[in-house]
Amino acid sequence: MLKTILSSLAIAVSSLGGILLFNTFRFSSKQKDFPQIPQPDIPKEAIQRLQSAIALPTISHEDTTQLDSASFLAFHSFLEVEFPLTHKHLRRETIQDFSLLYHWKGTDPNRKPILLLAHFDVVPPSDSSQWSQPPFSGNLVDNKIYGRGTIDDKGSLMAILESVEMQLKAGKTPAQDIYLAFGHNEEVGGSGAKAIAKTLEERGIKAEFILDEGGYVAKGFIPGMDKPISVINVAEKGYMTVDLSVEVDGGHASRPEKDNAIALLSRTLVKLENNPFRHRITEANQGFWDYLGPEFSFEKRIAFANQWLFEGMLVEKVGNNTTVAPTIFRSGVKENVLPATAHLTLNIRIIPGETSESVIEELKSLIADERIELHVRKSFLHEPSPVSDTAGHGFQTLFQTVREVFPESITTPGLLSATTDSRHYYAISENIYRFLPVRLTPEDASRFHGVDEYITVDNYKETIFFYHRLMENLGMDKATVTTEKVEKGERVDVN
Ligand SMILES: [Zn+2]
Repeated sequence: MLKTILSSLAIAVSSLGGILLFNTFRFSSKQKDFPQIPQPDIPKEAIQRLQSAIALPTISHEDTTQLDSASFLAFHSFLEVEFPLTHKHLRRETIQDFSLLYHWKGTDPNRKPILLLAHFDVVPPSDSSQWSQPPFSGNLVDNKIYGRGTIDDKGSLMAILESVEMQLKAGKTPAQDIYLAFGHNEEVGGSGAKAIAKTLEERGIKAEFILDEGGYVAKGFIPGMDKPISVINVAEKGYMTVDLSVEVDGGHASRPEKDNAIALLSRTLVKLENNPFRHRITEANQGFWDYLGPEFSFEKRIAFANQWLFEGMLVEKVGNNTTVAPTIFRSGVKENVLPATAHLTLNIRIIPGETSESVIEELKSLIADERIELHVRKSFLHEPSPVSDTAGHGFQTLFQTVREVFPESITTPGLLSATTDSRHYYAISENIYRFLPVRLTPEDASRFHGVDEYITVDNYKETIFFYHRLMENLGMDKATVTTEKVEKGERVDVN
């Protein structure tokens, strides 16, 4: 294999030698090293608290009327009891009945605030009987805390509050205002996050940057790379659902026509499967290659340094394209009748650089059959995100914090394929980053909305360390402790 790579490289080098070598030499590591920082003392109750948080079943159902308000309100009270200093010094508002917004006033009014996002709803447990520990037990077994939400995303919410409480206990106040925005229905569209964002917008809040879930300390996802990669996602793909339908003359099954509804739509589906959208390097994923490239061996680096030549070969491995997933296929009513109609639903994730409109145009020209109608579900649609900056103070502070807490990993910007609550916050900041300080392997990734979601105790401590260190790096002030005077349990309702 190596021989093949080397001989193909030799051909490339001999024909394009000058340019190739020039680019490769310019391509140096972007991984800065920072002095080692010891993990702070994390209260041992933190583990117990996460277990208790998991035990409250704050489930989001597709049918939102099924929301169990008692669990959500119990979660609010639980936080009040477990984080007394946070609830004494930060102003807390309840938005859209269940979402929470905390405001921690900083000492320097000239600095723009930052926002830390998390959500405390979870998806239903799916297949409870398959779990090795019950999904709402929070059981601690072999150093692993089991339960729905340990990764997605109560673990992060609890770790943020642990670090705030630790700072307050040490008598510290942030330099800039910090908002904690905790949505209650991220898994079903995030109307809570949307309402929080609207509230902040109405108050004229512009944040220096926003941090949400959606990037990991990922290991084993990139062939040829043994180290973990900490991906701070600077953009996320857009989301679109398209229904295809066809209506033809039905008929008797004893005389099948070639263009019956099922056959027509099936051929379209095969066409879509055989013609995926083009993989490409755009502003949104360029940084990933620039940061990751130099960490590979010399042969692989030549390939990275000359992306314009090897683009197709490398980029395909990470899925940098618009994806089209068939999710529902319906047709037929009776075993001996040719159906007159067939319906196919496509769930599409759009890469930044393309738009819903350009994707629809491309689908139409690929399908090239006027009998097939396309209908876009407008209420689900959102375009790809803007791309956040990697040069500014926000990204640089996050980058440093990741390097300090996970020094053995390679830290890169990246593009997220999924969606997060942060998509509701574009008006609040141009700099939105998606990173959850959680370690992940391909095997773990299936636990997310699947069976046996867990976090190890060590990793949970790293998560708390990360948010604590981030606050330190942003600047914590011990001299002046100012807190906003609020009545305990103040509620502001915004819908
Ligand atoms: Zn989530």
